[in-house]
Amino acid sequence: MATRTDFDVIVVGAGPAGGMAAGTAAAMGLRTALVEEHPEIGAPTHCSGKLQLHAFREFNLPERLILNTLQAGAFYAPNGVVARVRRAVPDSHVVDRAVFDRWLAHQAQERGAELLLDTRLRTAERVNGAVRVTGERSGKAFSATAAMIVDAEGARPVLPKTLGFQLRRRLILGLQYQMTDVDLEEPDCPEVYLGTAAAPGFFGWLMPIGDRRARVGVCVDPQLAGRAPLHYLESLLRRHPVVARRLRYARIERKLAGPIPVLASRSPTAVDGMILVGDAAGHVKATSGGGIYFSLIAARLAAEGAASFVGGDRDALIRYDRRWRRRFGRELRATTMARLALNRMTDADLNAIVATIAADEPFRATLERLGDTAYQSRLLAPFIMHALRPGHLATLARPMLKIIRYGLRALWDDEIPAEENGADEMNT
Ligand SMILES: Cc1cc2nc3c(=O)[nH]c(=O)nc-3n(C[C@H](O)[C@H](O)[C@H](O)COP(=O)(O)OP(=O)(O)OC[C@H]3O[C@@H](n4cnc5c(N)ncnc54)[C@H](O)[C@@H]3O)c2cc1C
Repeated sequence: MATRTDFDVIVVGAGPAGGMAAGTAAAMGLRTALVEEHPEIGAPTHCSGKLQLHAFREFNLPERLILNTLQAGAFYAPNGVVARVRRAVPDSHVVDRAVFDRWLAHQAQERGAELLLDTRLRTAERVNGAVRVTGERSGKAFSATAAMIVDAEGARPVLPKTLGFQLRRRLILGLQYQMTDVDLEEPDCPEVYLGTAAAPGFFGWLMPIGDRRARVGVCVDPQLAGRAPLHYLESLLRRHPVVARRLRYARIERKLAGPIPVLASRSPTAVDGMILVGDAAGHVKATSGGGIYFSLIAARLAAEGAASFVGGDRDALIRYDRRWRRRFGRELRATTMARLALNRMTDADLNAIVATIAADEPFRATLERLGDTAYQSRLLAPFIMHALRPGHLATLARPMLKIIRYGLRALWDDEIPAEENGADEMNT
């Protein structure tokens, strides 16, 4: 490195991606800073906290982070028909995101990372072979230098643009209420409410988090929705017969809101001196909006890339880009494909899909055997095979054509198609 810097690596943002990246980098002996704009970690929180068991095994996460365990799923069609699936083993746990993020940051500190709270970074620039970041710390001007930056700023990163990244992604907007005294049918079964009117461009959900509590929310795509998320959430609570029944005696404990980058382009996530990780890199499944598990995987790879880069390997950052794509790029492509097709489906299409799954026992058994909310692409081929059977062809012909027409292009297009780009804002 050309100059002696304040740190080897500065990790920007203490969410799951930043906490894991900083902890791994510090454990590898790098002089690491973990920078968070808020005075405390994990607040405000926006997320439902569903995290696959894979993550608990792979990252040795402690059981005390678990609020609830999920093993089933119920998918409500716009016409009220429900398809229920139940796996033989649990799929995910629910974590309290504030506690989870704090635990990761604490681990990073224990391993030697310096935690800089109340520090908002605004720019990054290359200086003599290093990178300098500037911003404010507790209201005063702040700057620091490092050999490189791991950007884990979340869905709306500002630093990458100042270093020349072209970020192309589409943000959807989520709003949910954490509620108590919820009348749950099965405490291990999250519910999904589909419908172009209920949640345009995404879905509504009820996520049980234990002790008769649940997070009930909607995400909508501003390019498809005429109103703000609050309108759709209030409609779901009042007008959806199942939700209204579950929430008869429920009370709101708190409100959580945030954007999700569901359709990120395939453009690079590394430039000289900076790599992107987590939501900042678009490491989110476009079908479900889940991003924690892939963020953790990418964060570990990012820290390994940082260690090689600091050790003098200039290709390490580009290799990071290739490594995370090898690990879960296929899932991002497959879920993008599914999302592009789902966004074109009418309520009649969604009714047909749910009714088929609800009525066809062998089809459901396949979904239950192969279904894995982390690796959803495994379901694509079985779904197409079942849909092509003579008994289903007539009902599923239209949704299938949409998968072919709108979904398959995600497999070969280098970018999200132009009309799918843009990060529209909308009040939650
Ligand atoms: C409504 C909703 C529900 C969701 N539910 C789930 C779910 O159940 N399961 C799941 O897997 N995913 C879920 N997600 C997605 C999940 O929350 C994200 O994928 C995940 O938080 C990404 O982690 P991250 O570390 O990349 O970003 P974040 O968690 O957003 O963390 C970024 C951090 O960086 C800080 N920061 C930002 N800019 C700066 C700056 N310039 N300087 C200093 N600090 C900065 C922020 O304050 C924040 O602490 C949900 C998202 C939403 C909106």
